[in-house]
Amino acid sequence: MKIGAKGKKILTKVGLELTRINFVMDYFLKWGEKEILKQLVVKNERGRPIGAQEEKYYVVTNLMKAFEKKLKENALAPTVRDWVFNKLIGDIILNWADNHPEAAERRKKELALPQFMTISPTQMCNLACTGCYAASSKKTAVTLDYDILDKVIEQKRDLWGSHFTVISGGEPLLYKSKGKTILDLFEKYNDNFFLFYTNGTLIDKTMAQKIASLGNVSPAISVEGFEEETDARRGKGVYKKILEAIENLKEAGVFYGISFTATRNNVDKILNDEFVDEFFGERGAAFAWMFQYMPIGRGPDFDLMITPEQRRNLWFQERHIIKDKGVFFIDFWNGGPISDGCISAGRKGGYLYMDWHGNMMPCVFIPYTVGNVKTDFFDKGKDLNDVLETTFFTKLRKWQENYSYKKLSSEAGNEIVPCPIRDHHAEFNKIARDSDATPVGKTAERSFKDEEFIKDFDEIGKKVAEATKDLWETEYQKIKTKEPSKAQ
Ligand code: SF4
Repeated sequence: MKIGAKGKKILTKVGLELTRINFVMDYFLKWGEKEILKQLVVKNERGRPIGAQEEKYYVVTNLMKAFEKKLKENALAPTVRDWVFNKLIGDIILNWADNHPEAAERRKKELALPQFMTISPTQMCNLACTGCYAASSKKTAVTLDYDILDKVIEQKRDLWGSHFTVISGGEPLLYKSKGKTILDLFEKYNDNFFLFYTNGTLIDKTMAQKIASLGNVSPAISVEGFEEETDARRGKGVYKKILEAIENLKEAGVFYGISFTATRNNVDKILNDEFVDEFFGERGAAFAWMFQYMPIGRGPDFDLMITPEQRRNLWFQERHIIKDKGVFFIDFWNGGPISDGCISAGRKGGYLYMDWHGNMMPCVFIPYTVGNVKTDFFDKGKDLNDVLETTFFTKLRKWQENYSYKKLSSEAGNEIVPCPIRDHHAEFNKIARDSDATPVGKTAERSFKDEEFIKDFDEIGKKVAEATKDLWETEYQKIKTKEPSKAQ
């Protein structure tokens, strides 16, 4: 018997409604976990390093468990639950191929197919943190036109079937254009999930309620550890405001997380067990993103970068957080094995970045553009697919494939150092120089041709590769177990 689209919809609705019953939900999640384990670790059809498959299993199921815990504690606004079960699972995931035949075709052909975009709609910020990658402050008021933002979100959904958008800073809650705020965008694109990075200082009770009422939005609040470290980088009094924001979000039932930037000065203090237990215990954070300071943006400084030894030590602590503490935790660099290496330049399952001017870039941390989305693409009758076809993007994806993405486990390059610009700077620089990339900003311009800078940056990458080589070989490539240990 063939079930029509209407029948399918009714069945999905009934199934999802059943998950409101606790034991049905338990069964559903357990089945999901087993399926993920089977696909990633047992089958491992792409022959990826088994340790990386195991880590993917942990992070995905950690997120599922965080969500389940909140549901059972009745800690989520009804809008959040409904969005996840009805919109995300019912409409988006189960019907993805039917709704996006062109994207499904691209997926089949292994063409570039980004899963999400990160967009910084405004450079403006009410803080001015040390070493901000965006060089944001109150004085930097550059803002993207709302119509452009709108068109980009629409195109990425229609061309790539992408329903996930990351909004970065400046401070997104300060965005205003044509009478619209960022919340208007979240509301209009109810078929997108929005993760937005925020300094948290503008999330009062009213704002928290507004975010909760949307259901498709999750903030990641930037902290640098406890009060001393946070206020040292972000300004006096900021930590207290962050704690207030967290209470407001919890009260409103928002699914929220945190993000950190590790510098040489704070890396040994953030992420200790006390911090993790507090933020993922009583404060109720559900996920965490870790950035390591990059010498781009305001006042680039190699001395703020974490040392190769610190990066190695960080790897151990991060694995402890993921496997023993059961937290959804991703480090953009050390977490390379979880994402099969670098995900920039619109790689399949990856992403690309657009800044407040509309500059199209492969990644937030690659300050080189292939052009402005309006003047170089839309105004010339081109679309977002044309961004993916530029030489710079194409060459970067080729680099990713050759380094590790398309390699079997035994031949894959060390994915703890996955980053072309940070970990393999000389190779990156050659790609950028031999393509249609233009540096954005004075620092990028200077470093583009500064042989000393290129050499120093490359040297750091080589040292990190050396410091993590044994981990890559023993913990990822040659690991013997076929199933994750029962750590959780
Ligand atoms: S370029 Fe570097 S930071 Fe960006 S996605 Fe790739 S590995 Fe991550």
